[in-house]
Amino acid sequence: MQSSPPALRVIGREHHPISRKNISAAALKVLYRLNEAGYSAFLVGGAVRDLLLGRQPKDYDVATDATPEQVQQVFRNCRLIGRRFRLAHVVFGRDIIEVATFRSNDDDGSGDREIDNGRLVRDNVYGSIEEDAVRRDFTANALYYTVRDFSVHDYVGGYEDVQARVLRLIGDPAARYREDPVRILRAMRLAAKLDFNIEPASAAPIAALAPLLSEASNARLFDESLKMFMTGHGARVFELLLQYGVLEHFLPDTAAALAQDHSGLCRDLVLTALRGGDARVNADRSVTPAFLFAALLWPAYAHELQVLLAAGHDMAVAERRAADRVTLRQLERIAIPRRFSQPMHEIWWMQSRFGQRQRKRVFRLLNHPRFRAAFDFLELRASVVPQLQAESQWWAWAQAQTPEQLADGLVGKSAASDARTGKRAQASDALTDTPADQEAPKRRPRRRRSRAKTQE
Ligand code: ATP
Ligand code: MG
Repeated sequence: MQSSPPALRVIGREHHPISRKNISAAALKVLYRLNEAGYSAFLVGGAVRDLLLGRQPKDYDVATDATPEQVQQVFRNCRLIGRRFRLAHVVFGRDIIEVATFRSNDDDGSGDREIDNGRLVRDNVYGSIEEDAVRRDFTANALYYTVRDFSVHDYVGGYEDVQARVLRLIGDPAARYREDPVRILRAMRLAAKLDFNIEPASAAPIAALAPLLSEASNARLFDESLKMFMTGHGARVFELLLQYGVLEHFLPDTAAALAQDHSGLCRDLVLTALRGGDARVNADRSVTPAFLFAALLWPAYAHELQVLLAAGHDMAVAERRAADRVTLRQLERIAIPRRFSQPMHEIWWMQSRFGQRQRKRVFRLLNHPRFRAAFDFLELRASVVPQLQAESQWWAWAQAQTPEQLADGLVGKSAASDARTGKRAQASDALTDTPADQEAPKRRPRRRRSRAKTQE
């Protein structure tokens, strides 16, 4: 599309809604100071797009013709970061403005741009603003705002695409996805976040090229997964992943479990969890990656657990092995740090303990550091499996009692199993539920910390 230099369209201040009032003081300072030092400098990327849409930008990126070293000479409060992509960070208290030098897609032979098998692994060839525009991913992300005359510079038709709410890759879509398969996930995320349609030619190659995600760095996919699922529109992202055939290449075991779950309960559980997380984010409440991944991978875990139980393993062994297997396989795609996978396992393992009502076990569970998250997870499961509601209500009740009241209402030995053997047996076909006909976990020798030994 853009092999000859792209044509510049300048959208004057009177034709767009971006006002300095809505731009962070730190970003404005960077733009003015670079201009004063004789460099050109533009606000670019998501911030310009969001401002055009009347949204509050999440962060501010600046593009300039100054090299990172020159940027550092202009700002004392500046550090240089990155190898794959060298940048300057200008720091104002808690605000960090990312300043990148215009980059080109051309390989000048210096080794500053490295392509491995069609993929971009190093990207440090500086270039002109035109070149910088066409190497960005979507047209809506390639708009440049200047404080010289407050105009927006558009080389790729991004302004019209923003007006039409269209997400369009710049250049040949298949080649751009091959160059960086993470753009497939960015398409899902941005379409969900902005409520944009993915333009047909940009959507067409997605299903065929999604297998390339297996070659992307799992650390980068972890970062991307947090942006996809923890910024307030995770449920929509998940629907798009399903719709475009991407889920099986991103969360393969979950996708396989969903495909086998004709009841649709697994899908409901994941979507309910994501909607709950979205509501929390939008109310400025915290969400934890451990709970998020516990939900995203629960269909895979529940499936694996059933397979192991059917093969005759007892519950405690099956739970550990299922968690290890699911996690190990998922780590090939997403590098979930152990500080999240460990609590994720605990959330899973505690689900089978909720059926036990002996006094000692009840108190042990209530005092478990992960009780709250595990209980929230039980409530989540109960919201899609009605047979679990009595159990979830009982634990809600238990938490509201004083220890004395609770002790009075419990017996020392198993008063528990009524719920497990009777009512819950009917729920055993649901993949979202742990099998009801299993006995409580067999007592293991008391090695308190042994559970921490998952493999990663
Ligand atoms: P958000 O509002 O969620 O931050 P964003 O578009 O600003 O969305 P960033 O990851 O902050 O996303 O990236 C900033 C800009 O860098 C993008 O708008 C785009 O121009 C460019 N960019 C980011 N990732 C890529 C990529 N994989 N390929 C090409 N350009 C990219
Ligand atoms: Mg951004």
